[in-house]
Amino acid sequence: MTTAPQLPGWTHTYSGKVRDLYVPEPGSPAAQAHGDVVLVVASDRISAYDHVLATPIPGKGTVLTQLSLWWFEQLADLVPNHVVTAEPGPAGVPDAVAGRAMVCRRLEMFPVECVARGYLTGSGLVEYRAGGAVCGVPLPGGLEDGSRLPEPIFTPATKAAVGEHDENVTFEAVAARIGADDAALLRDLTLAVYRRAEGLARERGVILADTKLEFGRTAAKRLGAEDAGEPDAPDAIAPGTVVLGDEVLTPDSSRFWPADQWRPGRAQPSFDKQYVRDWLTSPASGWDRAADAPPPPLPDDVVTRTQERYLDAFRRLTGRDLTV
Ligand code: ATP
Ligand code: MG
Repeated sequence: MTTAPQLPGWTHTYSGKVRDLYVPEPGSPAAQAHGDVVLVVASDRISAYDHVLATPIPGKGTVLTQLSLWWFEQLADLVPNHVVTAEPGPAGVPDAVAGRAMVCRRLEMFPVECVARGYLTGSGLVEYRAGGAVCGVPLPGGLEDGSRLPEPIFTPATKAAVGEHDENVTFEAVAARIGADDAALLRDLTLAVYRRAEGLARERGVILADTKLEFGRTAAKRLGAEDAGEPDAPDAIAPGTVVLGDEVLTPDSSRFWPADQWRPGRAQPSFDKQYVRDWLTSPASGWDRAADAPPPPLPDDVVTRTQERYLDAFRRLTGRDLTV
């Protein structure tokens, strides 16, 4: 497992399963240029079944960041995003993490995983089989693993602490937690993003089965920010604006399937980490998922195949090559 690097001018504040977050030191070039920002660094760590695996996937952090940046641009007219700059430089991304980090507007994140599904699989399929609905959204009978839904649905989950499982909840539960207006806004934005992305991916032969987004609000200015040499950044978004944050539409946050191989009624081949999940739950890994022991290290060929899948997803979607 990789740990968060030390970066001059930045203070490490948080590590999630995949990303490491930093804030600028007071008076640093980034604080002076941009004010209230965070540096979001995507590591090469990979998580599966809510475990961070012991084996990193080389280049994965770069793929996640470059793909997110590409999508943020494709979506810019639908929703504002948190990216300030991804350029290396004294007030930008430190050289040590160039390519896999972005300086972002600091957000107060909503405690909701905003999931849109256009196809049925995963936890949605499990819920559907148990009760004919997903997150309280009733679905027609006769759907199978990989079926296309009559229309995309919003199936939120509550964010769990590290090591806990996220839990699917109803729209009403989200409304009770964050208020009906914000809940409706997040739902509408999530579905709009899904529709746009699904269409773009489809043109490139890729099915976007589902995706998870995270939104936040631009924070009010930190107390004392002025004294610390943090002016109002010229590119600042008004405080309280709802903004798309985190990563977007990557193989970690989404299920991507090759369209030409889509066949409902079985698990679909995919560009995401399904390959790792399948290996972990196969006899080859020797891992007992139910026993709650940490998963074993990944063999070299699983690492290589996974790396290839991430790069392939990037290539197909963006039409560009990426060297990592
Ligand atoms: P978590 O640790 O939050 O349960 P995770 O393991 O998925 O989730 P990562 O994705 O590795 O975490 O880390 C990214 C973290 O940064 C998430 O907690 C996310 O909500 C947060 N984040 C993303 N963008 C911003 C932003 N602009 N401002 C503040 N926090 C952000
Ligand atoms: Mg995350």
